[in-house]
Amino acid sequence: MQSGPKEQLNVLVVDDEENIRLAVDRIVRRLDCGVLHARNGEQALETLQKQEVAVVLLDLKMPGMDGMEVHRRIREAGYNVQVIIITGYATIETAIEAMKQGAFDFIPKPFDKEHLRLVVDRALNTIRLERDRFRLEKERRRALLDLDTEKSRIRTILESLPNGVIVTNTEGSVVLMNQTARQILDKKEDDIGCEIGECLEDGELCELIRSQSREAQQDDISYELQLGGGHFYMVRTNPVLGENGECLGSVVVFGDISDLKEMDRLKSEFVAKVSHELRSPLSTIHEQMALVLQDMLEQEQPEKEQRILSRAKEKTKGMLSLIEDLLDLSRVEAGSAYTEVQRVDLREMLNSQVDFFRDRAVEKDQELSFEASGEEQPIVEADPRALESVLSNLIGNAVKYTPEQGRIAVRLGPVQDGQVRVEVEDNGIGIEEKEQSRIFERFYRSKNKQTRNISGTGLGLPIVKGILDDMGGSISLRSQYGQGSTFVVQLPVASGS
Ligand code: ADP
Repeated sequence: MQSGPKEQLNVLVVDDEENIRLAVDRIVRRLDCGVLHARNGEQALETLQKQEVAVVLLDLKMPGMDGMEVHRRIREAGYNVQVIIITGYATIETAIEAMKQGAFDFIPKPFDKEHLRLVVDRALNTIRLERDRFRLEKERRRALLDLDTEKSRIRTILESLPNGVIVTNTEGSVVLMNQTARQILDKKEDDIGCEIGECLEDGELCELIRSQSREAQQDDISYELQLGGGHFYMVRTNPVLGENGECLGSVVVFGDISDLKEMDRLKSEFVAKVSHELRSPLSTIHEQMALVLQDMLEQEQPEKEQRILSRAKEKTKGMLSLIEDLLDLSRVEAGSAYTEVQRVDLREMLNSQVDFFRDRAVEKDQELSFEASGEEQPIVEADPRALESVLSNLIGNAVKYTPEQGRIAVRLGPVQDGQVRVEVEDNGIGIEEKEQSRIFERFYRSKNKQTRNISGTGLGLPIVKGILDDMGGSISLRSQYGQGSTFVVQLPVASGS
């Protein structure tokens, strides 16, 4: 247990006879220690007060304060020293008594050099070991204290976070849950250790956390969680990785987005109200303009006026379609748009939608085709108007964003794992990679040379996405700028189809 070079320790020789002190000095000094002398008990106690001493060689019989008394006072003062009694045969019993009271050993006079050196050496080593042990204990205590402070600091920070934090292990059991998380989930501190499914009722989120805890997914996962009382949380899970990159569990953070959700709802409500109020006067203006324009045509009025009125009519038409889209989107978001769910023959609906856009494609000299794999007639459970809205937005966009003489192919894939795939492919203007995820945002429209003269509202794809989310479907996009785009829709088929 020794560390570093041997520490120089002091031995105090207490004897009234100088020749004995000198003899002891000569023998002991060879043990690589300092030697101090005291002629009597008083001097010995004085030295002990002033200097660091490890071993006291103490003669029992001295004039004045005798050895036993010195020994008693050393013990009382609590000095960390080993006392070796030097004694003549006459006082051996007293020496034994001193040992009972804690002296290290005794050496009878006249002493044997080797014996004396051996005993002193043992006493010095005992002191060294004791001091080492004391130093290590002190270091250990300090380390523990630091560790405790660090731990409690982290705990305090974690407990006062405004976000809920849960940590799971690889089995998906909760190993840590801070106060906010306990409040959100209405749990107590002793719920720690339970499986995540016992803390959270949302099965889909539990599955995400379990799989993230077992093996690290490539990206962190975000999930919108709705709890009772109109509370919404954005839940993010990140893997906890070990030193070698192995997955040790997952950190799940709950951020309260209830206020944002409420603001969003109020905004949508406002937009819906305004749109609703604007729709009928605008429709009237549009219809009346159409009538006036018709009259002008019949009465062969000057072409300039006709052009002005026709442009104004086009603008009101654009405004009307924006209002229709806004109303449609707010109804989709409120979940009140398409509630008449029926069994819809997807193949039939695609056929009629492709037919509906045929004239527009012919106008642009485009080739518009529809192909279905096999003879399957997949049935989808949906409000037919919602499904029509999805398909017409996608086919309409393909026609709109493909130049003249382009090709548009609508394909119905086979049913696989309870899902059916619809692809709308065009060889039109394509979408830049950086814009591909943004086109599903409200009002987002690509701004470039090709789109400059194409009118639109930027609301079609958010409507499509909203409807598909509601139906348990999904949409993805493959596109290359300047080459064309393919929108891929996955829909769950109705059972028994
Ligand atoms: P809108 O067509 O009314 O602008 P959408 O929400 O339907 O709104 O589409 C958003 C944007 O996505 C469009 O403005 C366009 O830039 C891009 N986009 C959509 N479909 C296509 C397509 N088939 N080819 C190229 N760009 C497209």
